[in-house]
Amino acid sequence: MIATNGYAAQSATTPLAPFAYEHRDPGPNDILIDIQFCGICHSDIHQARNEWGNAIYPMVPGHEIVGVVRSVGEAVKKFKVGEIAAVGCMVDSCRTCESCKAGEEQYCDKQATVFTYNSKDKNGNLTFGGYGEHIVLDEAFALTVPKNLDPAAAAPLLCAGITTYSPLKHWKAGPGKKIGIIGLGGLGHMALKFSHAFGAHTVQFTTSTSKIEDAKKLGADEVILTTEEGWAAKHAASFDFILDCVSAPHDVNPYLSLLKRDGTLCTVGVPETPLSIQAFSVIARRHFTGSMIGGIKETQEMLDFCGEHNIVSDIEMTSFDKLDEAWTRVIKSDVKYRFVLDLKTLVE
Ligand code: NAP
Ligand code: ZN
Ligand code: ZN
Repeated sequence: MIATNGYAAQSATTPLAPFAYEHRDPGPNDILIDIQFCGICHSDIHQARNEWGNAIYPMVPGHEIVGVVRSVGEAVKKFKVGEIAAVGCMVDSCRTCESCKAGEEQYCDKQATVFTYNSKDKNGNLTFGGYGEHIVLDEAFALTVPKNLDPAAAAPLLCAGITTYSPLKHWKAGPGKKIGIIGLGGLGHMALKFSHAFGAHTVQFTTSTSKIEDAKKLGADEVILTTEEGWAAKHAASFDFILDCVSAPHDVNPYLSLLKRDGTLCTVGVPETPLSIQAFSVIARRHFTGSMIGGIKETQEMLDFCGEHNIVSDIEMTSFDKLDEAWTRVIKSDVKYRFVLDLKTLVE
């Protein structure tokens, strides 16, 4: 077994603390990664605090992982020892159902997606994520990071990147389209970069005055401060697609009213309480839907796109001794725009 030190939540109410655990010995198709960097996703906080009601403890969060391959099983083809490898939100799935065969393993029809943490693998063992020294996984679920990208700033692409790239692609953000992004956080700032890179007219919605100038620099054609009176009026019925990247409960009805006929509001944010939709917001044939991360093939496509276009996350490096503070700042929407943990700061 691979002895590993990391940080775990032991309950919904206790802060993360040092924790020693084991990963399986790598099998023929597995790689063992020494983790260098792990992004802090708001989903880490939702799950560790059991805000989605699905927590399994002890929980070692982290699914925006970049590291160095330390060993490879004899059947491994994609990676060599010493290369950089990355891991996102999934480490396995059934691989045989229609969704898995279509490269949409996150929607596995047998509900057999194995998530990187807070999940059980095929043998019933709890999975542990990126807030720790190592991870072992089948190479089929590991990703390659383009060499020109800074590995720390690339880490958030593994969740915030693919979660926003996938729906923007699916709903065809591009030239001639008016696209809205709600919330300029970890996901939101990646959505903004992608929508701009795809050539869409991109409008950023924010509750933070302090982010207006940044939003323009990140690629927004327009920025709307939603704390201002009457902010929605002049944009009524004008959007093709809006991506909701907000982590907390909020009213989606004003945003639905901004959609054209047959336009779509897609949530990627997962607040802990239900969103309520007035029938009047959707009866003009407006669609409300959601999207979850993205498949492995599309994640590699997204990373390659980022390599070609030099897209990474705007990050603030942090350390394990400041983890509590970092989480508090994420909850206050006070990070520009993603924290990344440096695994060198792990104290055993
Ligand atoms: P984050 O960095 O905390 O960003 C959330 C943003 O939402 C904030 O920066 C803020 O933007 C806005 N916001 C926060 N509280 C708000 C409130 N009360 N009212 C209105 N706006 C508010 O979080 P994240 O890591 O990007 O994650 C966002 C959400 O996506 C989380 O719920 C996370 O669990 C979920 N998620 C889902 C998937 C998926 O597969 N669907 C994957 C990853 C994450 P402004 O300051 O600009 O207003
Ligand atoms: Zn995430
Ligand atoms: Zn499947």
